Amino acid sequence: MPADALKCKECSTTYPLEARYVCERCFGPLEVAYAAPAGAADELRRRIQAGPHTLWRYADFLPLEGPPRSALPTGWTPLVKADRLAERLGLRELWIKNETANPTHSFKDRVVSVALARAIELGFETVACASTGNLANAVSAHSAAAGLPSYVFIPSDLEQEKILATGAYGTNIVAIRGNYDAVNRLCTEVAGERPSWAFVNVNVRPYYAEGSKTLAYETAEQLGWELPDRVVAPIASGSLFTKVARGFQDFIDAGLVSGQVPVMCGAQAEGCSPVAQAFAAGTEVCRPVKPDTIAKSLAIGNPADGPYAVELANRTSGSIESVTDDEIRAGIRLLAETTGIFTETAGGVTTAVLAKLAAAGKIDPAERVVAYITGDGLKTLDAVRDAANVTEIAPSVDEFDAAFAAAGVS
Ligand SMILES: [Zn+2]
Repeated sequence: MPADALKCKECSTTYPLEARYVCERCFGPLEVAYAAPAGAADELRRRIQAGPHTLWRYADFLPLEGPPRSALPTGWTPLVKADRLAERLGLRELWIKNETANPTHSFKDRVVSVALARAIELGFETVACASTGNLANAVSAHSAAAGLPSYVFIPSDLEQEKILATGAYGTNIVAIRGNYDAVNRLCTEVAGERPSWAFVNVNVRPYYAEGSKTLAYETAEQLGWELPDRVVAPIASGSLFTKVARGFQDFIDAGLVSGQVPVMCGAQAEGCSPVAQAFAAGTEVCRPVKPDTIAKSLAIGNPADGPYAVELANRTSGSIESVTDDEIRAGIRLLAETTGIFTETAGGVTTAVLAKLAAAGKIDPAERVVAYITGDGLKTLDAVRDAANVTEIAPSVDEFDAAFAAAGVS
């Protein structure tokens, strides 16, 4: 399905497939428009199945002249059947899409893979981004793999784990004394002054955003070319949330799956919930907020795709919920203890919202539910600092027996 043009989401004006992201006529955001896929669904399915075990197996649905010749392998992450968590929540069929299995342990590897490949096609030689942490991690790693210099802009109060893991790749870390929204504004200005830099989520954002569609493609293929009934996914800018739905729609349009786009449920942290607040208020207008939450990777107070996320939740009879920091910590524990998957705070948000929906009876137990766990727990260790159950003893059997007198003795 070759990309045709960039198209304004508001007024449908089209532009060539260049590094641009704002409509000159109405200032609306641009996205990639595609022609209908050529050939029969069977043939397309065979081509996908013969592809690599990375997101490039879906090259027919990505906005590139061709898949990159070499790239850090990304995607094709496990879709894990979570029976113990399902039982705990009173659900019958629950799957976890485990994005911690990507090269830098978050779903951001997907969007960066696509943005970087397109940036190289367009001739850029320096890569940059505005990040809440995971994106900086992914940009620095994928740029290193491609042999390109990179600059990552982050809020200076980010988790140490994310800063250190990003620094290892030899990138230039620019820490801004301000929140993500200030970082993003600065990057928009810097991008204007340095047209030879590809800011993955600014001037090449239309391509970047397409990478999230591969989450839906993989989910459908891993379910045996079927769709989930309901999806729970986190919302920061709203890009992942809306593009996952778009990915399912692409597969429906191509005849690869039958049915309709799943019920789309969005998850936010209460301390940064402009989209959940708009949903609750019955409006698509997301009033900007000042973030205050442990879920820093979701801490975008002025979400670019917020209105589209609200529209999508309404259109699919879904919802957008928020949870407190304590519920987020409990969500991390719940997921880890029932599935063996350790997630960062964003995954705690998703799991806590899933639990909240189930407890409120908003999920029919017969539904097939997929939850997107977008990042690894090693990125936000502070959130589980109180969870470790450590008993210190001398290296002596007596002390061990004294400490664990009741455990395992028959
Ligand atoms: Zn427009």
